[in-house]
Amino acid sequence: MVGGGCAPNARVVVVKVGGSVLNRGSDYFAAAEAALARAPPGSLVLVVSAMRGVTDLLIEASHGDLEALNAACYRMIDAALEVGGKELAGEAAERCSEKRGLAGSRDPYGAARLVALGEEVSSLVLRGALSQLGVEAASLMGGDAGISAEGDPFDAAVDMSATSVAVQGRLKPLLERGVVPVVAGYTGVDLEGRLVLLGRGGSDVSAVVLGSALRADRVVMLTEAGGLLTGDPRLVKSPRLLERVSLWEALEAARLGLRKFHPRTFDYVTQGLSLEVSGVSSPRGTIIDDRDSGRPVKMVVVNRGFTLLELAGLKESLDALAARLAGSGYRVAALEAPPGGGSALLAVEGPWEGLVEATRQAAARVKAFPGLASVALVGYGAGRPAALKAALDAAGGSEPLAVFRGAYSLGLLVPDEGAVELARSLHESLVVSGPWR
Ligand code: ASP
Ligand code: MG
Repeated sequence: MVGGGCAPNARVVVVKVGGSVLNRGSDYFAAAEAALARAPPGSLVLVVSAMRGVTDLLIEASHGDLEALNAACYRMIDAALEVGGKELAGEAAERCSEKRGLAGSRDPYGAARLVALGEEVSSLVLRGALSQLGVEAASLMGGDAGISAEGDPFDAAVDMSATSVAVQGRLKPLLERGVVPVVAGYTGVDLEGRLVLLGRGGSDVSAVVLGSALRADRVVMLTEAGGLLTGDPRLVKSPRLLERVSLWEALEAARLGLRKFHPRTFDYVTQGLSLEVSGVSSPRGTIIDDRDSGRPVKMVVVNRGFTLLELAGLKESLDALAARLAGSGYRVAALEAPPGGGSALLAVEGPWEGLVEATRQAAARVKAFPGLASVALVGYGAGRPAALKAALDAAGGSEPLAVFRGAYSLGLLVPDEGAVELARSLHESLVVSGPWR
């Protein structure tokens, strides 16, 4: 190995700096310091999101709103000025003016380049913060780092085998020289060499993809929330920070509506890679790895806007129907096929007008119950029969309309009005205390 870098075989740590922790210039220093506390140059790879709110503004700009573009650029240039003075501010301003002509562009690839400006400038500013701290860093777009992705330019899917090889080729030489790569999240390049975006929240995917490609030890995600909680603080009483969650528990929580990760984040996690969700100033957040341990029931996840469909006389398989509904923009959260005939139950999230229509050809009779919420317990013990009994006890008199049992979850479908109260009581009796502790 060439001098200046890490010891041979030192494992890489990828640190993703989320937009929620980037509000102003000084936040870039805090993020850089938090990252350096996790791993030294030579072992550290950074992935950075746009500053909070900037991507939303840039999407408006891509529809032709120049005021939104000005607002986004003003904030980014201001942060650059705070971090690296006039020179860095000039660099940020130049990137902004290069993209101006793309506002309102009809070409979706042009629009994607404009929307990626938030990450592009953010990576310059974070590189600037590192160099102020005396650390050599290089800013790269996702494509420069080797991330290739295909499909919709706003929601492309990463090609993992091409990416793995390319990422090693691009980033390892930097690491060996002790240079910290600062990769613009959310971005990749397609086979034609065009910039593509990885879907909203796509920096999560960028970080996990780089971590897997480099066989990293860990991907740390720095966010404002600072970890996974046992419940939504707006709904349940004093939720606790979870120390450890398994990948399957996290995946199930995401599937049931915990809007924390990009939905494809876990698709790219390879064996041996652990994730950590942490705050910038907290030494440790929630570790997500491949072991089921700790409390058997870890989280209560509430999700609104469900319709329960009762289907009698099914003409196609439930899986086929679910796939068809997903294709029309619905999210099928749970389904239950009757083992010995009878009605099938489907919990679907999305506008319920049209849902009955979309389902009609699949069954002889369709009954719909809109205005429901799903209150789910998540954890490796949530699928056990004893959990169901305890949950029904906790629900008291209010009988759920349907119960869905998964290997890692137990979901109760209840009228929207009763959801918060049920979530509170389940959180209190099954997650925070009680026999399931
Ligand atoms: N900035 C992008 C978004 O807001 C990507 C990300 O933050 O992960 O969706
Ligand atoms: Mg996010």
